[in-house]
Amino acid sequence: MNCRNCETLLSLELIDLGFSPPSNAYLTSADLDKVEVWVPLKVLVCKECWLVQTLDFHGESDVFTENYAYFSSTSTSWVEHARIFVENSIVELGLNTDSFVIEVASNDGYLLQHFQEKGIPHLGIEPTRSTAQAAISKGIETIVEFLNPDLAMKVLTTYRKADLVIGNNVFAHVPNIRGFTDSLALMLSDKGTVVLEFPHLLKLLQENSFDTIYHEHFSYLSLHSCLDVLSRSNLRIWKVEELETHGGSLRIYASHDSSDLVVDSSVGELLETEKRFGITSVAAYTKLAVVANKLRDEVLDFLISCRVKGLKVAAYGAAAKGNTLLNFAGVKSNLIQMVCDSAPSKQGNFLPGSHIPIVNLDALREYSPDVVVVLPWNLSAEILALIRANLGERPRVVRLSPYLQVL
Ligand SMILES: [Zn+2]
Repeated sequence: MNCRNCETLLSLELIDLGFSPPSNAYLTSADLDKVEVWVPLKVLVCKECWLVQTLDFHGESDVFTENYAYFSSTSTSWVEHARIFVENSIVELGLNTDSFVIEVASNDGYLLQHFQEKGIPHLGIEPTRSTAQAAISKGIETIVEFLNPDLAMKVLTTYRKADLVIGNNVFAHVPNIRGFTDSLALMLSDKGTVVLEFPHLLKLLQENSFDTIYHEHFSYLSLHSCLDVLSRSNLRIWKVEELETHGGSLRIYASHDSSDLVVDSSVGELLETEKRFGITSVAAYTKLAVVANKLRDEVLDFLISCRVKGLKVAAYGAAAKGNTLLNFAGVKSNLIQMVCDSAPSKQGNFLPGSHIPIVNLDALREYSPDVVVVLPWNLSAEILALIRANLGERPRVVRLSPYLQVL
């Protein structure tokens, strides 16, 4: 396979997590009798531009359809994150009622609604019909299509170039990162700004959080590789911010090369931090697989020892990152009997691959487990408090990754 950004042949492997179903492919009880699609989950590194990317595999387009329907507005903290960004960008970029804002992957209008409130003209581009429809019903004009250069040209003829183009948590999710970036550049006015947010590869490597790898992420970006991707579309990054979201993300600001931009010191500083870590050296990419393999053995040892002792084990949090770990380790419902999740839409269903049933809090309480393992480790403190409040002091609460720890 060649690099999706610079076309160099990829020869360095970051990690091979074997085969697993797509992380968000939760199953109903009827699905349990059907064939489940397991696909390779392997991540490669380009030694030329250092873009980290998932392996292309045969039949990929059949596996990843448009069914994904996560409504951003269900997370109040995410809506607040968007509101603060909108307030700040209006001031910093000098936006007003003559400006034009485009958001790619605009979902249900969780962000654009804040521009709507300010009377700033805006347009959403969102391929998932159900979420786009929610935005349209709020009065947010939305094109229900995937962004590509053809669509970008159509936007230009129907609307105009944008002063601000936003892509939050979409850049790492697009398979054709070159066509996507060219499209952003096409839609951007001469002095306009592109703002992108994506999980920071440096954090993944520093914290060995391999369970944040799943099929829906095609790229794992550093500032270094992002600069390279954007520069091939004649875009230059002039500011970067480090965010807490998704275990550590970057928000980059970029404009056309030709605009007379002043590059903020944050860019050079973070590039230097990445360089010191070794983001442009093979050595930085060799540790993750070693740590992951060791953790897999420890997790299996721990769960098997619980079974041998006759302990009842439940999990908390039916999150995508939990699925990566469980399927990599080959854990099934004989080792973890149930997983509790607060989302009613998941309850009554089964985790992909492991087929562990997803239950509500009442069912967890009734089961009275001896051990509760926390799957979304980034929420460990919150989940520990919830277990103590609802199940008392009896169950041992353990997080499995990035390292095994009794909480
Ligand atoms: Zn490359």
